[in-house]
Formats: sequence, C-alpha cells, structure tokens
Amino acid sequence: MRRPFVAANWKMNGDLASNANLAQAFAAGIDTSKVDAAVFAPHVYLSALSEQLKGSKISVGAQTANTAASGAFTGETSLSMIKEVGCTHVLTGHSERRVMNGETDEVVAEKTATALEAGITPVFCIGETLEERESGNMEAVVARQINAVIDRVGVEAFANIIVAYEPVWAIGTGVTASAEQAQEAHAFIRQLFAQKNADVAEKLIILYGGSMKAANAKELIGQPDIDGGLVGGASMIAEEFVAICAAA
Ligand code: PGA
Repeated sequence: MRRPFVAANWKMNGDLASNANLAQAFAAGIDTSKVDAAVFAPHVYLSALSEQLKGSKISVGAQTANTAASGAFTGETSLSMIKEVGCTHVLTGHSERRVMNGETDEVVAEKTATALEAGITPVFCIGETLEERESGNMEAVVARQINAVIDRVGVEAFANIIVAYEPVWAIGTGVTASAEQAQEAHAFIRQLFAQKNADVAEKLIILYGGSMKAANAKELIGQPDIDGGLVGGASMIAEEFVAICAAA
C-alpha cells in the first residue's frame, strides 16, 4: 500500500562524467513501475543530471537549499533555483548538515516548511548518535527532531514529506542497524505520528539510511515499517544502487 522509495545521496562526490554514467545506468536498470527513485546530487550538477535523467521517472533532488527567496546570501542556493533546474525533492536535516553546518531542529523545521511552500518534497532526516542510543535516548532524540517539524508545519503536512531515519552511528561506517533495530525505530516513529493522525501515519513513507547496500537492502526494506532507503556510499556504484531498487 505504501510505494517504496529509494534515494541516492551522492554527498560531495562525483564529476560530470561519472554522474552521467551513473544516471544512464540508473535509467536503464531501475524499474520505476515498482519503486520511486531519486538522486540527490551537488548543486552544480543538478542541471546536467536533470537532463541526463529526462525521460526516466527518476527524480532529482538537492542536498540542501536556503530558506530565503533571494538576496545577499553569498554561496547559497534558493528553492526556486533548484526547482528551475529540475529538482522535485530536497534533503532537510541530514545529520552531516546538523553537525557540520550547525543546523538546529528549528533551522531544519524552517527548511522543511519553506520547501513545502515551494512545492518541493522534503526528505526530512532524523537519527540519533551512538552516544544517544547507548544512553537510552534514541526515542527522545528522534521524537524531539520530529516534533520540531510538526510544531512548525502541522502533522497533516506530512502527507507531502518523506521521513528518513538514519542512525548517525550507521552512516558511512559500514555498520548497519540490524533489521530488528531499524524496524523498532521505524515502528516508534510511525506510532508517534499515529498518536496525532492515524491516516498520515499509515501513509507516511519512512526510509532507512546508514550503510544500506545490495546485500542488506532486502531484509531492511522487508520490515513492515521500512518503506525504502536513503543510500550514500552504495549509491555511487551503479549495480549496487540498481540492486537496492530491485530489492525494494
Ligand atoms: P551511507 O550514507 O549509505 O554511506 O551510510 C547514508 C546517508 O548519509 O544518507
């Protein structure tokens, strides 16, 4: 009933030639009648990537965007700019931006809200650090991150938001959450929404992210509350990402 969604997060990797090769392989290999797919690329490549993926049903997304419409924000990129070059999605709250760019829950909520207003689907990322998990605070951290966005946009807005649960300790580390750990977190997240709006909770797409690869995708995405993946490292290997999409 929930359509699987698998997204590639290329982070600050790639170049024109390697992106073109990956785009071609994705377009040829991913069966978009069964799965929704998207690629999140660095800003400078979004325009070319949109051209390369034209005719496929694979969506293009930006890894971040500024909340302001325009103005004196040197180095920044607006939502209307990413939209003009073909983006339909944007990541908000990725843990790397929370940590390296100091994006607080409030900033993430504002970015999610302005993306919605611009007609761009936010893929809103949440997740706890190892320290937070080991001190028994996974649920509290995830609830705090989610409630900051619900407070800003309302729970009904989540009809147009995709959530990505990415435990920080599993990102780029090769350590994947076990299917049981991931399912437990996803069930908690869906339950949190169900307390506010059962229909929104039922339809909410919740992705898992953190060292997902072809070898573990089927088991992870096979869990009842895991609806797809946000894939970093393995999304830069064509066969891996295509296989993950096939497993979804
Ligand atoms: P990873 O990254 O698959 O390399 O762990 C996932 C992410 O950060 O989105």
